[in-house]
Amino acid sequence: SIGHNYTRELRQLDDRHNIHPFCDGKQLIERGSTIISRGEGCYVWDSDGNRLLDGMAGLWCVNVGYGRNELADVAAKQMRELPFYNMFFQSTTPPQISLAARLAEVTPDGLDHFFFANSGSEANDSIIRMVLHFWKVEGQPTKRHFIGRNLGYHGSTMAAVSIGGMKPMQDMHAAGHEILPGFHHIGEPHWYRHGGDQSPEDFAKSAAAELEDKIIELGAENVAGFIGEPIQGAGGVIEPPAGYWKEIERICRKHDVLMIVDEVICGFGRLGEWFGAQYYGVQPDVMTMAKGLSSGYLPISAVAFNSRINEALRSGGVLSHGYTYSGHPVACAVAEANIDIIENEGLVERTREETGPYFNEVIGQIAADHPLVGEKRGAGLLAGLQLMQDRGSKTFFEAGSTAAIQCRETALENGLIMRAVGTAMVLCPPLTITRGEIDELAEKTVMALDATAKVHGIK
Ligand code: PMP
Repeated sequence: SIGHNYTRELRQLDDRHNIHPFCDGKQLIERGSTIISRGEGCYVWDSDGNRLLDGMAGLWCVNVGYGRNELADVAAKQMRELPFYNMFFQSTTPPQISLAARLAEVTPDGLDHFFFANSGSEANDSIIRMVLHFWKVEGQPTKRHFIGRNLGYHGSTMAAVSIGGMKPMQDMHAAGHEILPGFHHIGEPHWYRHGGDQSPEDFAKSAAAELEDKIIELGAENVAGFIGEPIQGAGGVIEPPAGYWKEIERICRKHDVLMIVDEVICGFGRLGEWFGAQYYGVQPDVMTMAKGLSSGYLPISAVAFNSRINEALRSGGVLSHGYTYSGHPVACAVAEANIDIIENEGLVERTREETGPYFNEVIGQIAADHPLVGEKRGAGLLAGLQLMQDRGSKTFFEAGSTAAIQCRETALENGLIMRAVGTAMVLCPPLTITRGEIDELAEKTVMALDATAKVHGIK
C-alpha cells in the first residue's frame, strides 16, 4: 500500500475532506500534505516509504519514541478489561487512581493533586475555571485577572488563546470574537532580541519586573495568576536568562498571585529534569501537563495543584467542571506505563548527562559557525536556531520572511523533520535519540541551512 499512487489517492481524499486550519490553503494544494504512516524509534515513514528523522518528536510529544509495543499491550489489555468509565457519579477507575499516585512521585513536592483532561488546551482552560473558583472559596472573589506573556502558547480554546500571546491566533479570533476579558500580557524574556545593552542578569530582572508592574497596575487584589512555559516552545524556544524564573516566583509570592507553569513541552524529561520548574529551581502552585505525559500515544493531560488549592477545591462546594473523557482509563494506563519507561530507561538522567549536553554542543557549534544563524536557544533536548538576515549587524528577517519555511522544506526533502516558527528553526527530538542520530540531525540541519543561505545570498 506504500507508493506514489497510494499517496496521490490519499492526498486527493485529504484535500476533499480534511480541514487544515494551521496551513495556508494554496501552499497545501501545491505540495500536498505529508502523510506519515509508520514510526519506529526516532524515525517515521511517509506514505511514499521515505524514512524521516523526527526532529520534532511528533509535536514536542513522543518523548519515548515510536513503536513501543509495551504501550500498545497496556492499551489493549485495558480496552478489554474496561474501555471507559466516567468521573461524573463520584466514580473513577483503577488506572486513574494509579496514575495520580504515580504522578505524585515525579512531580515537584507539594504538587500532589491532579485533575485530568484530554489536551493541553483543555487543561489550561480548566485551570482558569478552577483557579477562579479557588479564589472565591478563599474569600477573594476579585482575583479574576490572569497575566500571560507575548509569544506564550497555552492552546487553542478561547481561554487558552486569550491567555497565550500568539498574535496571529488572537487576530484570527478577533475577526469574529473578542479575546476574553481579564487576560493581560507582559513581554517575552528574550535577551538576544530585546536585551539591548543590558547584561543577561539585568535583563532577567527587568523582564520579570514587568510582571510586578502589571500586577500593581491591575491591583494585586484583582490578579488570580501568572502563567508561563519554563521555556516558551511554540513561540520559538525562548529561553529566559538565568535568574528570571526565581524573580517571577518571588513576585508571585509577594503579591499572592498563583504561579502557574505550563509544562506541556518542558515536562517529562525534556530539559534533563522531570519538569522545567525543577530545571529552574522554582515551586509552582499549579502545573499543566500533556504531550509527554503519554508520549502522545493517547490523548491525555493533567493539571497538578498544590495542597492549598486542593483543600479549597474540596471544601468549596460543587464546581461543575469536567469532561466525559477526564481520566480515560486506557489513556491513564498508557500514561503510567510511559512514566515507567522514562524511569526504567533513565531518560531524564540520560538527557541531563549525555544526549542533552552532546546535542547542545553540536547545535551550538552550528549556530556559532553558520552565517544564517544568530543565536542558539534552549536546553536539554529542546533547541531553537534564530535565522538572521545579517547576523553581523544583528538584523532579523522581517516577520513575513519565508526563510524558515524554506529551511524546513529543504530539511524534509533531505529526511529531517524540523519546525519553522516565525524566523526560527526548532528541534525537539525523542529523548531516546542516540549520538549517531544527533549527528545525522546536525548534518541535515546544516544542509537545510546551507541551501536557505544560498537562496538568500547570505555568506
Ligand atoms: N501548552 C503548551 C506549552 C503547548 O506547547 C501546547 C501545544 N503545543 C498546548 C499547551 C496545547 O496543547 P494541546 O494542543 O494538546 O491542546
